[in-house]
Amino acid sequence: MMSKNIPNRILLTENELPKQWYNVRADMPEQHDPFINPTTMKPAVKEDFYPIFAEELCKQEFSTERYIDIPEEVQAYYKMYRPSPLHRAYNLEKILDTPAKIYYKYEGSNTSGSHKLNSAIAQAYYNKEQGITHITTETGAGQWGTALAMACSFYNIPLDVYMVKISAEQKPYRKAVIETYGANVIPSPSNTTNVGRAILEKDPNCTGSLGTAISEAVEKATSTPNTRYALGSVLNQVLLHQSIIGAESKLQLEKVDEYPDIIIGCAGGGSNLGGLISDFMGDKLTGKANPYFIAVEPAACPSLSRGKYAYDFCDTGHVTPLAKMYTLGSGFIPSSIHAGGLRYHGMSPIVSKLYHDGYLDEARALFQNHIFDAATLFAKTESILPAPESAHAIAAAIDEAKKCKEAGEAKTILFGLTGNGAYDLAAYMNYKAGNMQDYAPTDEELEKGFATLPKIPGIQE
Ligand SMILES: *Cc1c(COP(=O)(O)O)cnc(C)c1O
Repeated sequence: MMSKNIPNRILLTENELPKQWYNVRADMPEQHDPFINPTTMKPAVKEDFYPIFAEELCKQEFSTERYIDIPEEVQAYYKMYRPSPLHRAYNLEKILDTPAKIYYKYEGSNTSGSHKLNSAIAQAYYNKEQGITHITTETGAGQWGTALAMACSFYNIPLDVYMVKISAEQKPYRKAVIETYGANVIPSPSNTTNVGRAILEKDPNCTGSLGTAISEAVEKATSTPNTRYALGSVLNQVLLHQSIIGAESKLQLEKVDEYPDIIIGCAGGGSNLGGLISDFMGDKLTGKANPYFIAVEPAACPSLSRGKYAYDFCDTGHVTPLAKMYTLGSGFIPSSIHAGGLRYHGMSPIVSKLYHDGYLDEARALFQNHIFDAATLFAKTESILPAPESAHAIAAAIDEAKKCKEAGEAKTILFGLTGNGAYDLAAYMNYKAGNMQDYAPTDEELEKGFATLPKIPGIQE
């Protein structure tokens, strides 16, 4: 097994860091359906997005160019924590007694603890280049707020983070780190926006949701001079920035003469999955290779595996453009599971389109206890304490490796280890104490969410 002498960690030098992002849209036979402007209910053009996002980012949102240069300043920042290591999971393979070869790409070694910094630094850069003087965003579990706070502090741009109120209360350490980088944390719903005030009027004790926090951050951005909003997932620009994950992985695997048979990523809004698979998906779309792609989501929030492919808002306040995507409905409130980063009603339009057209092969929804079993085994064998979100990918990788054992097949598996679990100890405590609930919504509950899907004259009746 060791004959090829593959190291535990396959590293790249700074000079080998990819200098371009790969845009998988360039190789997709069909594009996703156009975004819809929420005021006109007509297909949106990039100029419609200018009041919300920096112009260069709006251009990327609509771009189908194959390669986009990573600005030198962004490359320089990347070099502080990239290229990230690709690990061979020798110890996990051994304990599973599997002939499968398991590789994982680890994105959790920067302070934000996740892949989100890859897009945060790019978004902050383009805002700075345009002379934007203030940015707003939302955060649920806290990873995105941390990443963007790091990026904005680097460029000295003031940042308002609308943090889902329940998270701000339950995750004081996350709030503290965001504030350490100089950002302003506002528990959402708040009385700083019309959307927030309306919600608080109806329910003063509302603990908030990601959808509401997005509405507040967008309203604040569009109603404040020289201010823009930044979003950490779902968007095409975010997938583009995250393509660095897949591009590096491919180079690293080439160094040891490997190509994955199976590629696995967890999916909340789809950005790490989209970024990890992009380069390999390009190979599939152009007939060069045929890897099997698996998206893993929580059973409590199964957007791809049980959602509808429909136009929907990206937020509960309905201020964002509409996207055609797999969605549970913007009115769907997922139960409070521990993988906060995966509690989102929708899914990236690119990932959705790839799944709908059969290029993304499978979506799998897993229960919490199963993923924490996997997380614990992984921590004990591979030494890294994984984020609960990432543990979804680990669990699926272990399940695939077990199948390989049964079938006697030595498949090569690559999965994305998106983050570390240093801020998720409450979840691990809960699991240890045996208090973790396995929950999946009933069909009836899902129907309630679907009933909130918007009607768009002539497009979606
Ligand atoms: C946010 C987050 C995710 C999910 O977001 P995607 O956009 O689907 O990638 C997964 N893992 C970690 C550690 C996260 O912070």
